[in-house]
Amino acid sequence: MTDGPSHDDLQDFLTDLDAELRAEADWGTPAGYIPELADVAPDQFAISVALAGGRVISAGAHDTRFSIQSVSKVFTLACVLGRIGDQLWRRVGREPSGTSFDSIVLLEREQGRPRNPFINAGAIVTTDALLDGRMPNLALSEIIGFLRAASEDADIHIYAAVAASEERTGYRNVALANYLASHKNLFNPPELTLGTYYHQCAIAMTTDQLARAGRVFAGLPDAPRMISTERARRINALMMTCGHYDGSGEFAFGVGLPGKSGVGGGILMVAPGRASIAVWSPGLNRYGNSQVGTRAAERLARFTGWSVFGG
Ligand code: GLN
Repeated sequence: MTDGPSHDDLQDFLTDLDAELRAEADWGTPAGYIPELADVAPDQFAISVALAGGRVISAGAHDTRFSIQSVSKVFTLACVLGRIGDQLWRRVGREPSGTSFDSIVLLEREQGRPRNPFINAGAIVTTDALLDGRMPNLALSEIIGFLRAASEDADIHIYAAVAASEERTGYRNVALANYLASHKNLFNPPELTLGTYYHQCAIAMTTDQLARAGRVFAGLPDAPRMISTERARRINALMMTCGHYDGSGEFAFGVGLPGKSGVGGGILMVAPGRASIAVWSPGLNRYGNSQVGTRAAERLARFTGWSVFGG
């Protein structure tokens, strides 16, 4: 395994990659079921790589904020594990689902215990555990506070319009929350948990900010010490096996890095001990993961030799 390219070589690679992807004919389709996201122009791209020593190397629209959506689930999970530790696993599993992010199929078969914390059902339970009978603002400020501390950047906020847009049309999430409640795996009123969940998904960040926040999972020596090495390792394992829903196997095959996607088109990736990487391109593939972002991730992994399965 190599330690990766020099800063200059990496910068040149990212600049060239951005130019090449810009000529891309097929950008995929932005998430249509959240009206506020459906309107985002698909032909956009950004990539940021946060390295040890505080350096962030970027290309494309790395100053543009986008809705992090399901990438937030990794940070909520970190907050909940910090609060209640392994108790969470009584309510949520740790196995890949092989089903789409918003599927209800397994929930019925498995008595309301979601397969993992990254599919929507599992993330709703995780948010419910963070809420823990408190006002939603307290849970949300815990997540935002975590992101601000991890990225060492206070300028991270929620796009209320995106949350409101999802609140109006989140029929499947309402179904999942009610189904969980019927199995007594939701401890707060469904509308309170869902409201909190929609707002955490509506956090807006740039790829620079997201890459910096992900350093806590990459174990970079100068990253803020917010979670233990053991916890980071376990969260990374979940990202590798479940972070891309029914596209997780393909992502491991093509990229070989733990990663978490969101329907806003963002992907956070972790190269343990080396880097934290964020890509963004709002057009999605058939799994609901960023189409051009995934392609960029494959190219970056090949160039750097950072796949956890060997260079
Ligand atoms: N807020 C979105 C939803 O609940 C998140 C899904 C995603 O990013 N995959 O449907």
